[in-house]
Amino acid sequence: MPFLPLDGHVAIVTGASSGIGLEVADALAAAGAAVVVNYHSDADAAEELVKRICDRDGRAIAVGADVSDEDAVVRLFDEAASAFGRIDVLVANSGLQKDAAIADMTLADWNTVIDVNLTGQFLCAREAVRRFRAQPDDARPARSKGCIVTMSSVHEVIPWAGHINYAASKGGSRMLTRSLAQEVAADGIRVNAVAPGAIRTPINKEAWETPEALEQLLRLIPYGRIGEPDDVARAVVWLASDDADYVTGTTLFVDGGMTLYPEFRENG
Ligand code: NAD
Repeated sequence: MPFLPLDGHVAIVTGASSGIGLEVADALAAAGAAVVVNYHSDADAAEELVKRICDRDGRAIAVGADVSDEDAVVRLFDEAASAFGRIDVLVANSGLQKDAAIADMTLADWNTVIDVNLTGQFLCAREAVRRFRAQPDDARPARSKGCIVTMSSVHEVIPWAGHINYAASKGGSRMLTRSLAQEVAADGIRVNAVAPGAIRTPINKEAWETPEALEQLLRLIPYGRIGEPDDVARAVVWLASDDADYVTGTTLFVDGGMTLYPEFRENG
Protein backbone atom coordinates (compact mmCIF):
# COMPACT_ATOMS: atom_id res chain seq x y z
CA MET A 1 0.00 0.00 0.00
CA PRO A 2 1.67 3.31 -1.05
CA PHE A 3 2.00 6.15 1.49
CA LEU A 4 -0.83 8.66 0.93
CA PRO A 5 0.10 12.06 2.43
CA LEU A 6 -3.53 13.22 2.66
CA ASP A 7 -5.07 9.98 3.89
CA GLY A 8 -8.13 10.78 6.04
CA HIS A 9 -8.21 14.45 5.03
CA VAL A 10 -11.28 16.19 3.60
CA ALA A 11 -10.62 18.90 1.01
CA ILE A 12 -12.85 21.46 -0.70
CA VAL A 13 -11.60 22.77 -4.06
CA THR A 14 -13.51 25.68 -5.56
CA GLY A 15 -13.81 26.05 -9.32
CA ALA A 16 -12.81 22.42 -9.76
CA SER A 17 -14.73 21.58 -12.94
CA SER A 18 -11.93 22.83 -15.22
CA GLY A 19 -8.30 23.81 -15.55
CA ILE A 20 -6.12 24.05 -12.46
CA GLY A 21 -8.92 23.34 -9.96
CA LEU A 22 -9.84 20.09 -11.72
CA GLU A 23 -6.25 18.88 -11.64
CA VAL A 24 -5.84 19.96 -8.00
CA ALA A 25 -8.98 18.08 -6.95
CA ASP A 26 -7.80 14.99 -8.83
CA ALA A 27 -4.32 15.18 -7.26
CA LEU A 28 -5.67 15.69 -3.71
CA ALA A 29 -7.88 12.62 -4.19
CA ALA A 30 -4.93 10.62 -5.52
CA ALA A 31 -3.04 11.67 -2.36
CA GLY A 32 -5.80 10.13 -0.23
CA ALA A 33 -8.16 13.04 0.49
CA ALA A 34 -11.93 12.91 0.19
CA VAL A 35 -12.66 15.77 -2.19
CA VAL A 36 -15.53 18.20 -2.61
CA VAL A 37 -15.49 19.27 -6.25
CA ASN A 38 -17.09 22.71 -6.33
CA TYR A 39 -18.34 23.99 -9.67
CA HIS A 40 -20.08 27.15 -10.78
CA SER A 41 -21.85 26.18 -14.01
CA ASP A 42 -20.42 22.97 -15.48
CA ALA A 43 -22.06 20.24 -13.36
CA ASP A 44 -21.31 17.56 -15.98
CA ALA A 45 -17.56 18.15 -15.87
CA ALA A 46 -17.62 18.10 -12.04
CA GLU A 47 -19.62 14.84 -11.99
CA GLU A 48 -17.25 13.31 -14.53
CA LEU A 49 -14.29 14.05 -12.24
CA VAL A 50 -16.17 12.65 -9.24
CA LYS A 51 -16.84 9.45 -11.19
CA ARG A 52 -13.18 9.17 -12.18
CA ILE A 53 -12.09 9.54 -8.55
CA CYS A 54 -14.71 7.08 -7.24
CA ASP A 55 -13.87 4.55 -9.98
CA ARG A 56 -10.36 4.30 -8.55
CA ASP A 57 -11.78 3.86 -5.01
CA GLY A 58 -11.40 7.50 -3.99
CA ARG A 59 -14.07 9.58 -2.31
CA ALA A 60 -15.59 12.70 -3.92
CA ILE A 61 -18.81 14.64 -4.36
CA ALA A 62 -19.71 17.54 -6.65
CA VAL A 63 -21.36 20.62 -5.15
CA GLY A 64 -22.51 23.64 -7.15
CA ALA A 65 -21.97 27.05 -5.54
CA ASP A 66 -21.11 30.59 -6.53
CA VAL A 67 -18.15 31.52 -4.32
CA SER A 68 -19.13 35.19 -4.33
CA ASP A 69 -22.52 34.36 -2.74
CA GLU A 70 -22.33 34.29 1.07
CA ASP A 71 -25.20 31.82 1.58
CA ALA A 72 -24.01 29.55 -1.21
CA VAL A 73 -20.57 29.30 0.42
CA VAL A 74 -22.11 28.26 3.75
CA ARG A 75 -24.15 25.62 1.89
CA LEU A 76 -21.00 24.35 0.17
CA PHE A 77 -19.33 23.77 3.54
CA ASP A 78 -22.52 22.26 5.02
CA GLU A 79 -22.72 19.74 2.18
CA ALA A 80 -19.03 18.93 2.55
CA ALA A 81 -19.40 18.36 6.29
CA SER A 82 -22.52 16.24 5.94
CA ALA A 83 -20.90 14.05 3.25
CA PHE A 84 -17.50 13.56 4.90
CA GLY A 85 -17.89 14.64 8.55
CA ARG A 86 -15.16 17.29 8.68
CA ILE A 87 -13.08 19.73 6.60
CA ASP A 88 -9.29 19.90 6.70
CA VAL A 89 -8.21 21.65 3.51
CA LEU A 90 -9.66 24.52 1.50
CA VAL A 91 -8.24 25.32 -1.92
CA ALA A 92 -9.77 28.68 -2.89
CA ASN A 93 -9.10 28.37 -6.60
CA SER A 94 -12.07 29.96 -8.41
CA GLY A 95 -11.15 32.91 -10.56
CA LEU A 96 -11.92 34.70 -13.79
CA GLN A 97 -10.81 37.55 -16.02
CA LYS A 98 -12.79 40.40 -17.59
CA ASP A 99 -10.08 42.23 -19.46
CA ALA A 100 -10.30 45.82 -20.72
CA ALA A 101 -8.20 48.96 -20.85
CA ILE A 102 -9.11 51.27 -17.98
CA ALA A 103 -11.10 53.71 -20.12
CA ASP A 104 -13.28 50.85 -21.36
CA MET A 105 -13.56 48.83 -18.17
CA THR A 106 -17.10 48.83 -16.86
CA LEU A 107 -17.89 48.86 -13.18
CA ALA A 108 -19.57 45.48 -13.74
CA ASP A 109 -16.28 44.06 -15.14
CA TRP A 110 -14.39 45.44 -12.15
CA ASN A 111 -16.92 44.17 -9.60
CA THR A 112 -17.30 40.69 -11.10
CA VAL A 113 -13.57 40.03 -10.95
CA ILE A 114 -13.17 41.38 -7.42
CA ASP A 115 -16.31 39.54 -6.25
CA VAL A 116 -15.18 36.12 -7.51
CA ASN A 117 -11.38 36.33 -7.17
CA LEU A 118 -11.06 38.23 -3.91
CA THR A 119 -14.39 38.30 -2.06
CA GLY A 120 -14.86 34.63 -3.00
CA GLN A 121 -11.55 33.79 -1.30
CA PHE A 122 -12.58 35.82 1.75
CA LEU A 123 -15.98 34.10 2.07
CA CYS A 124 -14.51 30.61 1.65
CA ALA A 125 -11.56 31.26 3.98
CA ARG A 126 -13.85 32.72 6.65
CA GLU A 127 -16.09 29.66 6.54
CA ALA A 128 -13.07 27.33 6.60
CA VAL A 129 -11.61 29.03 9.68
CA ARG A 130 -14.96 28.83 11.49
CA ARG A 131 -15.21 25.10 10.74
CA PHE A 132 -11.55 24.34 11.56
CA ARG A 133 -11.95 26.00 14.96
CA ALA A 134 -15.19 24.14 15.74
CA GLN A 135 -13.90 20.64 14.90
CA PRO A 136 -12.74 18.28 17.67
CA ASP A 137 -8.95 17.92 17.80
CA ASP A 138 -8.90 14.18 18.47
CA ALA A 139 -10.17 13.28 14.98
CA ARG A 140 -7.54 15.44 13.23
CA PRO A 141 -5.69 13.71 10.37
CA ALA A 142 -3.00 16.43 10.11
CA ARG A 143 -0.62 18.20 12.45
CA SER A 144 -2.30 21.51 11.67
CA LYS A 145 -5.86 22.29 12.68
CA GLY A 146 -6.63 23.12 9.06
CA CYS A 147 -4.98 24.36 5.92
CA ILE A 148 -6.00 26.96 3.36
CA VAL A 149 -4.39 27.38 -0.04
CA THR A 150 -5.42 30.42 -2.06
CA MET A 151 -4.89 30.41 -5.82
CA SER A 152 -3.05 33.61 -6.56
CA SER A 153 -1.05 34.45 -9.68
CA VAL A 154 2.28 35.96 -10.70
CA HIS A 155 0.12 39.08 -11.00
CA GLU A 156 0.11 39.36 -7.23
CA VAL A 157 3.47 41.03 -7.91
CA ILE A 158 3.71 41.68 -11.68
CA PRO A 159 1.63 44.70 -12.75
CA TRP A 160 -0.61 43.92 -15.75
CA ALA A 161 -1.81 46.70 -18.02
CA GLY A 162 -5.24 46.03 -19.48
CA HIS A 163 -6.08 43.71 -16.59
CA ILE A 164 -6.18 46.03 -13.57
CA ASN A 165 -9.21 44.32 -12.05
CA TYR A 166 -7.46 40.93 -12.20
CA ALA A 167 -4.09 42.23 -10.94
CA ALA A 168 -5.84 44.13 -8.12
CA SER A 169 -7.72 40.97 -7.12
CA LYS A 170 -4.51 38.93 -6.97
CA GLY A 171 -2.59 41.69 -5.19
CA GLY A 172 -5.46 41.74 -2.70
CA SER A 173 -5.32 37.96 -2.42
CA ARG A 174 -1.63 38.21 -1.52
CA MET A 175 -2.38 40.40 1.50
CA LEU A 176 -5.53 38.43 2.39
CA THR A 177 -3.37 35.29 2.53
CA ARG A 178 -0.55 36.83 4.54
CA SER A 179 -2.77 38.76 6.96
CA LEU A 180 -5.01 35.76 7.54
CA ALA A 181 -1.98 33.52 8.08
CA GLN A 182 -0.77 35.94 10.75
CA GLU A 183 -4.22 36.04 12.37
CA VAL A 184 -4.87 32.29 12.62
CA ALA A 185 -1.37 30.82 13.07
CA ALA A 186 -1.87 30.66 16.84
CA ASP A 187 -4.93 28.47 16.24
CA GLY A 188 -2.71 26.00 14.39
CA ILE A 189 -4.21 26.92 11.02
CA ARG A 190 -1.88 27.32 8.03
CA VAL A 191 -2.62 29.68 5.13
CA ASN A 192 -0.51 29.86 1.96
CA ALA A 193 -0.85 30.88 -1.65
CA VAL A 194 0.21 29.26 -4.88
CA ALA A 195 1.02 31.73 -7.63
CA PRO A 196 0.97 30.13 -11.07
CA GLY A 197 2.64 31.71 -14.07
CA ALA A 198 1.25 30.83 -17.50
CA ILE A 199 -0.59 27.53 -17.21
CA ARG A 200 -2.35 25.90 -20.17
CA THR A 201 -6.06 26.25 -19.19
CA PRO A 202 -9.24 27.78 -20.66
CA ILE A 203 -8.68 31.10 -18.83
CA ASN A 204 -5.75 32.12 -21.05
CA LYS A 205 -6.39 30.15 -24.27
CA GLU A 206 -5.58 33.07 -26.53
CA ALA A 207 -2.05 33.20 -25.04
CA TRP A 208 -1.12 29.66 -26.16
CA GLU A 209 -3.57 28.34 -28.76
CA THR A 210 -1.65 29.53 -31.85
CA PRO A 211 2.10 28.92 -32.44
CA GLU A 212 2.65 32.70 -32.75
CA ALA A 213 0.95 33.43 -29.43
CA LEU A 214 2.85 30.62 -27.73
CA GLU A 215 6.19 31.87 -29.07
CA GLN A 216 5.43 35.34 -27.71
CA LEU A 217 4.44 33.86 -24.34
CA LEU A 218 7.58 31.73 -24.08
CA ARG A 219 9.70 34.89 -24.19
CA LEU A 220 8.35 35.59 -20.71
CA ILE A 221 9.20 32.14 -19.31
CA PRO A 222 12.91 31.44 -18.61
CA TYR A 223 12.27 27.71 -18.13
CA GLY A 224 11.14 27.55 -21.75
CA ARG A 225 7.79 25.83 -21.56
CA ILE A 226 4.23 26.69 -20.66
CA GLY A 227 3.03 25.27 -17.33
CA GLU A 228 0.52 22.45 -17.10
CA PRO A 229 -2.23 22.21 -14.46
CA ASP A 230 -0.48 19.29 -12.76
CA ASP A 231 2.60 21.48 -12.14
CA VAL A 232 0.33 23.54 -9.89
CA ALA A 233 -1.53 20.55 -8.45
CA ARG A 234 1.66 18.96 -7.11
CA ALA A 235 2.54 22.21 -5.30
CA VAL A 236 -0.92 22.34 -3.71
CA VAL A 237 -0.69 18.73 -2.51
CA TRP A 238 2.64 19.49 -0.88
CA LEU A 239 1.36 22.67 0.81
CA ALA A 240 -1.69 20.79 2.10
CA SER A 241 0.37 17.95 3.55
CA ASP A 242 2.29 17.61 6.82
CA ASP A 243 5.50 17.92 4.78
CA ALA A 244 4.70 21.66 4.70
CA ASP A 245 3.68 21.79 8.37
CA TYR A 246 6.04 24.68 9.21
CA VAL A 247 5.04 26.69 6.13
CA THR A 248 2.51 29.47 6.55
CA GLY A 249 1.95 32.95 5.16
CA THR A 250 3.99 32.38 2.06
CA THR A 251 3.40 32.34 -1.69
CA LEU A 252 4.82 29.45 -3.64
CA PHE A 253 5.47 30.67 -7.20
CA VAL A 254 4.97 27.94 -9.81
CA ASP A 255 5.91 29.97 -12.85
CA GLY A 256 8.96 28.59 -14.69
CA GLY A 257 10.78 31.75 -13.60
CA MET A 258 8.28 34.27 -14.96
CA THR A 259 8.84 36.49 -11.92
CA LEU A 260 12.63 36.56 -12.54
CA TYR A 261 12.48 39.59 -14.88
CA PRO A 262 13.52 37.55 -17.99
CA GLU A 263 13.94 40.71 -20.07
CA PHE A 264 17.04 41.46 -17.94
CA ARG A 265 18.85 38.37 -19.28
CA GLU A 266 20.45 40.32 -22.11
CA ASN A 267 19.99 43.85 -20.78
CA GLY A 268 20.77 45.85 -17.70
P1 NAD B 1 -10.47 28.09 -15.49
O1 NAD B 1 -11.29 29.10 -16.18
O2 NAD B 1 -10.37 26.73 -16.09
O3 NAD B 1 -10.93 27.89 -13.98
C1 NAD B 1 -11.59 28.86 -13.22
C2 NAD B 1 -12.69 28.16 -12.46
O4 NAD B 1 -13.35 29.11 -11.61
C3 NAD B 1 -13.75 27.59 -13.41
O5 NAD B 1 -13.97 26.24 -13.09
C4 NAD B 1 -14.95 28.45 -13.13
O6 NAD B 1 -16.18 27.76 -13.28
C5 NAD B 1 -14.73 28.84 -11.69
N1 NAD B 1 -15.54 29.98 -11.30
C6 NAD B 1 -15.72 31.14 -11.98
N2 NAD B 1 -16.60 31.91 -11.33
C7 NAD B 1 -17.00 31.23 -10.23
C8 NAD B 1 -17.90 31.49 -9.17
N3 NAD B 1 -18.59 32.63 -9.11
N4 NAD B 1 -18.06 30.55 -8.21
C9 NAD B 1 -17.38 29.38 -8.25
N5 NAD B 1 -16.51 29.09 -9.23
C10 NAD B 1 -16.32 30.00 -10.21
O7 NAD B 1 -9.04 28.74 -15.36
P2 NAD B 1 -7.78 28.30 -14.46
O8 NAD B 1 -6.60 28.77 -15.18
O9 NAD B 1 -7.86 26.88 -14.08
O10 NAD B 1 -7.96 29.23 -13.18
C11 NAD B 1 -7.96 28.74 -11.85
C12 NAD B 1 -7.30 29.76 -10.94
O11 NAD B 1 -5.92 29.86 -11.29
C13 NAD B 1 -7.88 31.18 -11.04
O12 NAD B 1 -7.95 31.75 -9.74
C14 NAD B 1 -6.86 31.90 -11.88
O13 NAD B 1 -6.85 33.28 -11.63
C15 NAD B 1 -5.59 31.24 -11.40
N6 NAD B 1 -4.46 31.39 -12.31
C16 NAD B 1 -4.45 30.80 -13.55
C17 NAD B 1 -3.34 30.98 -14.36
C18 NAD B 1 -3.23 30.36 -15.73
O14 NAD B 1 -2.26 30.65 -16.44
N7 NAD B 1 -4.15 29.52 -16.15
C19 NAD B 1 -2.26 31.75 -13.93
C20 NAD B 1 -2.32 32.34 -12.68
C21 NAD B 1 -3.41 32.14 -11.87
